Amino acid sequence: MKIKGPLDLTHMNRAVFEALDHDQLIELTCRLHRMAVEQSERLAMNSTNSSRPPSSDPPFGTGGSGGAVVGGGGNAPLPAPTRKVAQPTGRKPGKQPGAKGKWRGEPLKSERSEHIWPTICAGCGQPLELWDREVRTGAAFPVLELERTPGGIRIACVEHRYQVVACTCGHETEARPAVGVLSFLDGRKRQLHLTERCMVAPSLAAFIAALHTRHHQSRRKIHEFLLTWMGVPLSVGSIDRCIREVGVACEPVAEDLLEEVRAAGLIHADETPWYERGAFRWLWVVLTKTTAVFHIGSRRHEEIRDLLGDAIVGWLISDGYGAYRDYEKRQRCVAHLIRKGLALAGGLSPDGVQFGEWLVRELRGLIHGVAEDQGHTILNPMQARLKRACKLHRDHETEKIRALAREILNDWDAIVAFVTNPMLPPTNNEAERALRIAVIARRLSFGTRNEEGSAAYAASLSVVETCRRRHIDPWSYIADTLARARAGLTHNPVPAAA
Ligand SMILES: [Zn+2]
Repeated sequence: MKIKGPLDLTHMNRAVFEALDHDQLIELTCRLHRMAVEQSERLAMNSTNSSRPPSSDPPFGTGGSGGAVVGGGGNAPLPAPTRKVAQPTGRKPGKQPGAKGKWRGEPLKSERSEHIWPTICAGCGQPLELWDREVRTGAAFPVLELERTPGGIRIACVEHRYQVVACTCGHETEARPAVGVLSFLDGRKRQLHLTERCMVAPSLAAFIAALHTRHHQSRRKIHEFLLTWMGVPLSVGSIDRCIREVGVACEPVAEDLLEEVRAAGLIHADETPWYERGAFRWLWVVLTKTTAVFHIGSRRHEEIRDLLGDAIVGWLISDGYGAYRDYEKRQRCVAHLIRKGLALAGGLSPDGVQFGEWLVRELRGLIHGVAEDQGHTILNPMQARLKRACKLHRDHETEKIRALAREILNDWDAIVAFVTNPMLPPTNNEAERALRIAVIARRLSFGTRNEEGSAAYAASLSVVETCRRRHIDPWSYIADTLARARAGLTHNPVPAAA
């Protein structure tokens, strides 16, 4: 028996090996060895020893037993080359204590001023009138505002002047910048206190949040952009503050949105890994046609229950993750199973190829059948065939085939729920698309640094995605919400779909 051509692994099994004589076995073993070496070398490739980009490297290095073992002439295995990992210095990120600070070289030049008058006399409690005497100006400071012009946008510097007015009763009342929400974080020297006494107006803060949250720009890039294109010198710290303020202002809105999601008849849910200061977290999303809520939390199964509550009235569309299994009215994403079937079909086991191809065909047929509203005369036999094939393979000797067949049988009702309830979508693509923006952000920024940042990012995303789903401008709404949060007022609800 002569072995020719590339190694065909699909036709190799114990019976073939036993039929070979000694020389043929040696020949085959040498070829298999060469192939194993090639595969090991390919596995050990990373950005330091090939033209692969650093983004394709595993996040935790390849040290330890994870590296491929490629023996060098019978010597001890060579460890795979690893990237240099910087040792932590133990210092906090950002400006160090005692480091020289930076100041604005020249004061901001205001192009016009805006007067703010007190409305009620602090002495007698009567409303103040326009004709009451202005005594002097109290506080005054420049504010950078973003203005929309017919040709685009511009940033104006406006001096806000808080006036002192004398009442007819003789008392002089001073208008003061309002003070709003306080975001407290343990161990922080300066807490984040939302106030109207701020150099960046809500309109510009919303613009900065848009560049960050929606357009994935880092704080340093936003600093560079504003300086180069708008001529506005704004420090990285001020930009960071704006992004956080927007997040803090959006948090109560996101809580309201969550209530709306819970009351909906059809809820999509999905999750993706997230990092919070290097620690593994989960970013969850629950959404309906018009509302989306993101949440960064633990990887516990109970997290989704904490988020959605026990008694959701509607259907839950999710992937096969165990956390969702407790919900009775559930549609399992069929696209995930089709992908698993495709993986089997592209594999080496002939049984797996057959089962995989067959599974993909039947599942796709089922989706098309339901979409075209075919009668149950066609759909029922389809389901029966699917179930029978899974039962036939549930004790198969190959683990992957066995696992997939059992997975389908164990979750059968959730997989075919869309057949009997045609209003259910068979896939969870809606939620997966919504998560894309967070996945890109994670790859660019490596997540958030603390709980405040995580909550703020999730809340901002929730408001932006909800507005997008309702076809309204998220940034006008966010500017308004931030202005109200700075003034200590409660937010307006997100308008219904336009
Ligand atoms: Zn008075």
